[in-house]
Amino acid sequence: MKTVNDFNFKNKKALIRVDFNVPLNEDLEVGDTSRIEAAKPTVLKILEDGGSAILMSHLGRPEGKEQRYSLEHIVKKASEILGVQIKFVSDSVGTQVKEAAKNLQPGEVLMLENLRFHPEEKKGNDDFAKELASLGDIYVNDAFGTAHRAHASTTIVAKHFQDKCFGLLLAKEIESLEKVLGNSEKPVTAVLGGAKVSTKITVIENILDKIDHLIIGGGMTYTFVKAKGGKIGNSLVEEDKQDLALKILKLAEEKGVQVHLPVDSVIADSFSEMADTNVVSVKEIPDGWMGLDIGPETINQFGSVIKDSKTILWNGPVGVFEMDTFAKGTIALGEQIAAATRDGAFSLVGGGDSVAAVKKFGFEDKVSYVSTGGGAMLEMLEGKSLPGIEAIK
Ligand code: AMP
Repeated sequence: MKTVNDFNFKNKKALIRVDFNVPLNEDLEVGDTSRIEAAKPTVLKILEDGGSAILMSHLGRPEGKEQRYSLEHIVKKASEILGVQIKFVSDSVGTQVKEAAKNLQPGEVLMLENLRFHPEEKKGNDDFAKELASLGDIYVNDAFGTAHRAHASTTIVAKHFQDKCFGLLLAKEIESLEKVLGNSEKPVTAVLGGAKVSTKITVIENILDKIDHLIIGGGMTYTFVKAKGGKIGNSLVEEDKQDLALKILKLAEEKGVQVHLPVDSVIADSFSEMADTNVVSVKEIPDGWMGLDIGPETINQFGSVIKDSKTILWNGPVGVFEMDTFAKGTIALGEQIAAATRDGAFSLVGGGDSVAAVKKFGFEDKVSYVSTGGGAMLEMLEGKSLPGIEAIK
């Protein structure tokens, strides 16, 4: 796997696909800067070598050239973070862009306008990719969040370069996932939560060969519990996925994977912070009540599995963590994973809402790695090869 560390960028122009798809507030200022910070090591390595950097990214889902999605809004913040005054061009292809790229001097950074202002980007149009490619000498992909898309700037552009490599962020994402899916130290435990079984099925099927323990929490618990004959009251359930749930349990048994389902639940009489709550057996939830978090006995049982694990993958909260009343299970689980990490386990957290949970409760620096790409990470966990990664390999 070639990274920017395998190249000397002196007097070279690096065309870098970054993921600057950051949230903007009402005043069009950058909210969360973590994606910009994550790209810093790659950009600095190139500048320190004596090269220059051309940054390209998408931002949001614009329909044509919608100014509120202009990358110009993030130039100020990104310049502060990178410690260089970034130059900006108001397009990503064309004469003006070519000129700006040509005049770029070593140590300078140029940012192109939102790639998705051109529909060719998402279509993976080769002419558009070729135009982008003409701007730089070396192509660097550092955008994990879009690595599962065969877009012009993430995949197609790569074939027009002799020299191409991964940025340090993307390399670290791949390494962390390979650490979990490849030669991971045993016992390996996957904690899967979130709302639905249906969105996690392919992940479960793919990882069963690689794990020793499967901990299931969150809304998908109740499809399993009901399929096994339990009473789940008004809890979230996917009626048509019950057979699939039983099939997963059987498959896990055949593969020697121990499945841990919750034994008790925090139940509520409505989906609300203000609801009346109680703790009951997960199999005996009364009608009119719904399970919205794991209970204290489950926290203990999950804790003892996590404590003995050497590799941990966490995807999806085990309760409705957005409401304080039902966040205790997710917080306890985060604490258990943090403690196991302190004791030497490798822990990877990723995929959408678990990242939000980890950030909200301050576990970000207490786990080994927090993945930045929700969809891309899920596809890797599903065993798919990602076009953005293949294009460089
Ligand atoms: P996902 O995107 O599939 O990881 O699902 C995350 C969502 O699942 C979060 O918004 C949680 O609030 C929700 N969730 C977790 N546990 C439950 C539950 N027991 N019932 C309903 N929703 C849940």
